[in-house]
Amino acid sequence: MISVKEAGDIVLANVFKPKIESVELLDSVDRVLAEDVIADMPMPPFNKSAMDGYACRYNELGSEMELIEIIAAGKLPEKTVRDGQCSKIMTGAKVPEGADCVFMVEYSEVLENGNVIFNGKDTKPNICFLGEDLLKGDVIIEKGVKITPAHIATLASVGYFQVEVYCAPKVGIVVTGSELVRVDDVPEAGQIRDSNGPQIYAQVQKAGGIPDFYGIVSDERELTTQVITEALEENDLVLISGGSSMGDWDFVPEILEECGMKILFDKISIKPGKPTTFAVSDSTACFGMPGNPVSTFVIFELFVKPWINGSMSCSDEEMKLSLQVSGTARRKSADRTCVLPVSFKEGGKVAPVKLNGSAHITAMTKADGLGFYPADVTIIEDGDMVDVRLI
Ligand code: AMP
Ligand code: MG
Repeated sequence: MISVKEAGDIVLANVFKPKIESVELLDSVDRVLAEDVIADMPMPPFNKSAMDGYACRYNELGSEMELIEIIAAGKLPEKTVRDGQCSKIMTGAKVPEGADCVFMVEYSEVLENGNVIFNGKDTKPNICFLGEDLLKGDVIIEKGVKITPAHIATLASVGYFQVEVYCAPKVGIVVTGSELVRVDDVPEAGQIRDSNGPQIYAQVQKAGGIPDFYGIVSDERELTTQVITEALEENDLVLISGGSSMGDWDFVPEILEECGMKILFDKISIKPGKPTTFAVSDSTACFGMPGNPVSTFVIFELFVKPWINGSMSCSDEEMKLSLQVSGTARRKSADRTCVLPVSFKEGGKVAPVKLNGSAHITAMTKADGLGFYPADVTIIEDGDMVDVRLI
């Protein structure tokens, strides 16, 4: 059995090298940039008024000023502002030559003779200066970043209507268990609905992979082998739910070996999720995950998501916070790292959500993150710090 850290390192050492594709800007959110983004012009591209107001010389603020033109956004100023003069200017318009400040229209008064006075106490320049945000040729986003709406705005401002991104891995999902029925079926005695299939599908989508669901496979060896073989042939990554522990029908690890996969680990010192298998071949990686829904959720977050991100060359770090625990937590045995769903409490503390066991999937809906209770620690006192990964 290996530690959580060792398992994580093995997973990251076995990510794939992605291909690159070009997508349209509007299709690029959540994709991983495969090129450094370079500014094709300075930003702002000219001295730009930050306010609706009057452009003038700062040392003329105490005097009456002659209004010489009105400058709309998108129009160029035609006149130079000299001592005793001002130009009315709209937000976003180019500041005229000769002016070094814009005072707000709210602090102005137009006199009967048409001249303008500043009636405020003082003013900031209210000018966004040429190149103050970035210069032409600056690298403004580095490759490896997952594109967010804020990145989209930046990409748009420097003319990236096509964006080079890393190809997303194709992820096949196989759900095993003779007790499982589809979401649209009503379970009979002894049956339950498959929740892992839809959950893993959603987790893959959110992580940026391309999911493909191979359906529910009953616990028959031949059938399971057939579906896993097909999924391994057609995908970069295969995720198998169930059949990886010690039950009489848990033959996933054996099948993976028969399929020519090399098993890199088959147990992690973690609770929940101990019977997790990770196997690779030249063309495919595979996780066999325990069927208990909370285990599946946790294993995906901790190991599968980093594999997907790594296989898209994503350099974003997982957000991990060190937070104070609210309330005291005791456990009898602490042989494995315990990962518990936790929720935020007052004062920025976290507390475990009520969890009846690793089948208690509804508990996850109340969780803000996963809390790491280290191995060998049996008591965590109120106020102690724990690592929390946000979900
Ligand atoms: P297994 O890992 O196959 O031994 O399953 C462990 C537990 O998780 C059993 O109680 C299963 O009924 C339950 N389980 C397995 N697969 C699923 C699934 N796809 N959806 C919901 N529960 C499941
Ligand atoms: Mg099973």
